[in-house]
Parts: sequence; C-alpha cells; structure tokens
Amino acid sequence: MSKGPTKDWRSTKPFTPSARRDLDSKDESKPPRMSRSRLQVATAYAPGALFTWEGGTGICLSVPLDHDRVKLDPISERQLFDGIEEMVNNWFSRALACRDDPPIDPRQCLDDCCLGLDGTPRIDRLNQFVTLRPSKVGYQPWPLIYRCSQCGRLTEYESMVDQAANPLPHECPDGHTSKWRQLDVVFAHWSGELEPLSPFRYDERNAQAGKIRQCRCGSTEFALRVRGSSFRQWKFQCLSPGCLETRDLTQKDPFTLGVFAQHKARGVEHEQVEANMLPVSYRASSVHYPQTGRFIKLSDDRVVKLLDASEFSSLIKEIARLHAFNVVDPSDDELQSAVGPAEWEAFAKTRKFAADMRAASLEPAAAALEKQLQEMLDAWRTAKLISQPKVDSPRLAANVQARGTWSRRFDPFRLTVEHAAFVSEHIDQNFARKLAVDLRTPDALLSTAAGDERTLAEYQRKLDQIFGVLGVERMVLVRNLPVLEYSFGFSRVSADPVYQRILNGRPILMPVRLKTYPPIEGGVRPVYVLEQENEAIYVRLRPERVLAWLSENQVPDLPDEASRIGARYLELAEDFGKDLKIYSSRDSQGEKRRRSLPNQVYTLLHSLAHQLIHAMADLSGIDRNGIGEHLFPADLAFVIYRKGMTPDLGNVSALWRNHWEAFLERAISPRQLRCGSGHLCDERGGACPACLMLADITCIAKNNLLARAVLKGGRPPMWEARNAPELVGFFKACDP
Ligand SMILES: [Zn+2]
Ligand SMILES: [Zn+2]
Ligand SMILES: [Zn+2]
Ligand SMILES: [Zn+2]
Repeated sequence: MSKGPTKDWRSTKPFTPSARRDLDSKDESKPPRMSRSRLQVATAYAPGALFTWEGGTGICLSVPLDHDRVKLDPISERQLFDGIEEMVNNWFSRALACRDDPPIDPRQCLDDCCLGLDGTPRIDRLNQFVTLRPSKVGYQPWPLIYRCSQCGRLTEYESMVDQAANPLPHECPDGHTSKWRQLDVVFAHWSGELEPLSPFRYDERNAQAGKIRQCRCGSTEFALRVRGSSFRQWKFQCLSPGCLETRDLTQKDPFTLGVFAQHKARGVEHEQVEANMLPVSYRASSVHYPQTGRFIKLSDDRVVKLLDASEFSSLIKEIARLHAFNVVDPSDDELQSAVGPAEWEAFAKTRKFAADMRAASLEPAAAALEKQLQEMLDAWRTAKLISQPKVDSPRLAANVQARGTWSRRFDPFRLTVEHAAFVSEHIDQNFARKLAVDLRTPDALLSTAAGDERTLAEYQRKLDQIFGVLGVERMVLVRNLPVLEYSFGFSRVSADPVYQRILNGRPILMPVRLKTYPPIEGGVRPVYVLEQENEAIYVRLRPERVLAWLSENQVPDLPDEASRIGARYLELAEDFGKDLKIYSSRDSQGEKRRRSLPNQVYTLLHSLAHQLIHAMADLSGIDRNGIGEHLFPADLAFVIYRKGMTPDLGNVSALWRNHWEAFLERAISPRQLRCGSGHLCDERGGACPACLMLADITCIAKNNLLARAVLKGGRPPMWEARNAPELVGFFKACDP
C-alpha cells in the first residue's frame, strides 16, 4: 500500500509539486494515482467512489487509469462477458418494468454504452471494454466546495485549475481567520450522478446551460446554515445584507432533466420529485454500490459452447449422459428419407466401421468414428433436415428449451455441466499432483494419520461417523481452485434496479441506472478482474439420505430411486429469478409457494454450506465474508473456498489438520443450530444475521433459500403457507 499525498491540497499551498505541474499545464486527463489492495481497488476504491485518505485530509473521487491491462484466455473471457451480459439484461428488465406510468426511458435504466440504438441492452465485448488488473486507480479532489466553519460562508470551484488560480482566502470579509473545510455532504441521484452540495441550481428548462450562479438579488455569495441533524433543517443563505434569502438543500439532477425535456416534447409529463437529488454524506454506502460477479475458472471450452442457446441438441445429449436419461436418435427410415443417398451410405458405412472397431476393443478409433457420426447428425439438424434428438422425458426437454431466459446463477443445467467439468478438472485430474485430496485418505500435510495404518483406520472410523450424521458422501480438499472476480460498474442511491421514493406518504417507484466505469484512453471502459488460486472444500451429499429426508417432509414428485434425484431436479426445475427474490426470507406478505424437490434440495445444500462457512471462519481465522460458496444443486454438491486477494497461507489445510473434528462437529452441534435472537428467527424458518446468514454481497443467493429448520427441524420459512407442515431436520431425519 503506498502513502497518500504528503500535503493537504485544500489550503493555499495544497498541491504536491507534481500535481501543481499538472495544473499549470492544464492537463487534467492524467490524475494522480494510488495503489490499494486489489480487492479494494475493485470495490471500495472503484471508479466513481468517494473516499478520504487515512488521515482524513480531503475527499477524493476515484477515476480509472489505463494501467495493467490483462488478456484473459478465451474461455474466461467468455464466462466473464456472459456474466456481465446477464447482469445487465436482468437489471434492465427489472428497472424498465418498475412502473407503467409515467413511462420509463431506457436511458434511465442503463448507461448509454450498454444500450443499442433500439433502446435495448447491447454489450459490445470487443470494442467497448478492456480488462484490467485492479492494481492502481487515479483520484481527483472532489467536491470542490468549501465552507468556513466559523461563519458558514461557501466557496465553490468549477475545476482544480480554477481553484489553483483563485486560492481560498485566509480571512473572511469581516476579518476573522477562515476555517475552510471541504463539504462532506453531496447530492446523489439514482441516475448514478453526483453533484457538490452547491447553493446554485440547474436551470430546469435548460439543464445543459448549467447552473444559475447567483441569487435573485444578483449576489453570488452564499453561506450554509447547519442546524439540527436532519438535512431538512439545513439552509443555504444569500449573504447580501439587503436580501438574506434562504433556500432548501435541493438540486435537480441534470441528467434526468435532460431526459425529461425530451419526454416533454413528446407530451410525457413527469413529477419534479423524480429529478430531485438527495443530500447524503460522502461516507454513506448509498453513494456507490459496485456491481461485481465471480466464477470458478474452467479450461474445458465445451462448457461454454454447450451452454450457448444454439447448442440445444448437444446440451440435451450431455445432460442425458450425466443424469442417465435415454436419448432417441432418428430412426434409419427417417434418416434415409431426409438426407441424400450418398450421405446415407457414408453414414451407414461409418456406423458399421465404428461398431467393428468397438467389437475389436479399439476404443480410440471407435470414439473418433462415433464423433464423426455425431457431427454428421448435428450438421443435418442445423440444416433442419432431421429433428432434434428426443429424450425420454418431455419435462426435461421443455426445461432445456426454456432455460435460455432463466437466471444464470441458478440455472441447474449450466450448473450440472459445470459440475462435471469442475470434478474432472479440479478434482480428478488433480489427484495425482496432490492438488486435490480426498479427505478420507488425507496426505501427510493434512493429517498425522497419513501413512500409519492403525491411526488412519481410527481417523476413518471417526470421520465416517460424522459423515453419517452430516449426510456427506465425499469431501475433497482442493489446493488451488482458480476463481475470477470482476467488477464492471456501479449504481448510486440503491443497490437494486428499483428505488422506492416516499413522497408525502405515497410511494413512487424509480428506475435506478446501472453505470459502467468511465472510459479510459481509447474510449474503452475498464472491467477489473482479480484472478486467484485458493484452497477450497468440495462436499457431496449421499443421495439416499437426501431422498429419505425429502420424503419425510412430504415433498411431492419424488423419484423412486435416490440416484434419480438429480434427474428429477432438472425435470422439476423452474426459474428461481435474480437473487431468488420469489423465495425472499424476509417478506411475510409475499406470495406463498409450495414445497418442491428443487427448492428443498437447494435450501438444504445452501444452509449446510453456510453452516460450514461459519464453522470454517470460527476455527481458521479467515473472515467469514472472505469465504465464497458455489452450489451444484442437481449433483447434491457444493464447494466453499477462501476468497482473499492476499496469498493463500493454507488456512484451510491447517484447519483440517488441527481441527477437523471440531470443524465438522460445529456444523451439526445443537448449540450452533440455535439462534440468539430466538423466537423471531425460528418463526422465519431460522435464518438471520445472528445465525446462518452472511453479508448479502458474500452470499450467492442474497440469503434466500436458507433455513436452520431444514437442518434441525422446525417452522418452515416465510415463503411457505402458514399451515405448511413443520420441517423435519436433515440431521434428525437421519438419526439411526
Ligand atoms: Zn468565515
Ligand atoms: Zn440574495
Ligand atoms: Zn437467527
Ligand atoms: Zn449463501
């Protein structure tokens, strides 16, 4: 971490020599730069954020720098932009639909650079964005408005050049020594704009003309009268002795005024409250909410290819392979009549050849020929000569077709394909290199039992006993899980696409604008990416135990065999929506939903993941918000991993070596399954910040589909009807 500027830039000798040189040359395009930890640069100091240096000397606005560009591999790049595109589309559709009247302009929902000419979201991956490592950002002093704490007088500058040319005076007009302080309250609007707390207002009829920089009396001198703790009691006051008129702390957002001016020309009227900015402390989190995402890196490009909407038939075949559905290819008759005689002959010959190879146990040759056959079928399908492959489950086929519009984060098809790649790349291929270790057969780094037959048998006996209660089939430590975190933009006033403003007791819904970071050289916008390899624990539950528990809880549509839970999950899945809002854990008035295999399995995995995260945080010294989770619901599996940007010191390995029993037992201990806030939390199914929840930014599902009751039994969560039967806990259902 580098030091801040050596001098305070607010007074008459404010600038470091280099900063002054910048000002003299009037080159404002190159702000001074600072280094912070990478995670901080990508979030707390991301462009558009306001911050002060540790000493509290002066508020600055973070601005992007063209620094440390990074070229991602094509698969990561695709995963990254798929994620951004999904977030942008989701944001847009929710903001645009927030109300019917007056109508919403697309520009009120999204930054111009994410909108096509037709007013729908459009991301130009290649030309608009550039990926940067967040090692440095620039900053500029902002806001440039100062108040004398002795007399309340205000001085505002239009730029740093203006301020350098006209330094703040040492004395106020009546002769006292001025005590200038930068105003630490700013105006913010959900359009993403910020303005200094200036007494001068925009000309509402022509915002482009700028602010009217004088009082009605002609004076340009104002003071800020600060009385009471509410901004409503604060006033600007004209300092002309014959006037002394006061005005409220109001400002209209120039961006919104511009949109409304165009609407007015089309006869659409808006309420003025829609343009009003809000005074907020620069420290308030509402000034800047960074938009971030994260994914586990994979190197098999089949994953991204399969999940492309155009790959319906390949995806359905892969899902069928993973979850043992039968796929019916077109009959020979259908093929023969659909394709030309030469093509049919080639196909039949290749098929015969492949069968011969298989009969002769020449596997690689057979596989290559079968791949050729598949390609021929795919080509005929693309040309619409033959029909799509038929799977023996119409529900599955319908869901694979529908998933294109589902929330990506909870798309079970995406997650099951990713799970297969995850297990192959990060577990199976890593066993030999000792980068993945099955915790039932630990290596010497993870347990003193390694290498000693008798100690190992005792270790396994204890482990199997706890796994029995936990319902765990397999637990694997992954030493180098590659995770990519990114941040590409921000919103203000609200972290959500819809902001509810209350005017005289009447709620008005406002669209919140998602902004990307401002452009750097060449007009491209930064996307900050953080790549890290950290330790992780992969957990898979025993299907038999999950099925027994589901059945005790009267969940409908269960499969006959435990091995079919994943298949049934995919058949019954529906769109969970962004952040699982339909299962909000806090909304008692919301629409009620029925217990289903997908929502119960998801809640079980999610609650268990949080239990283990809390246990891991307590015993390993990793901050609880520094642990991430990733769920693979159809595979009854999840992974929890350290997220830190600092080098991984092996806290998770150390946790296992020193405290593995305490770690697992904590997850099932009756004491840990109670909650200090008691009754109220139990009423909601059992999830509150005092027990199971994590910070909203840490949890992949905003703490929805999370309940202690699924583990220990008790009242079902709020989204179920009041008269729904009590939940039997997973740990209880499994008591011998
Ligand atoms: Zn003064
Ligand atoms: Zn006046
Ligand atoms: Zn609680
Ligand atoms: Zn969570």
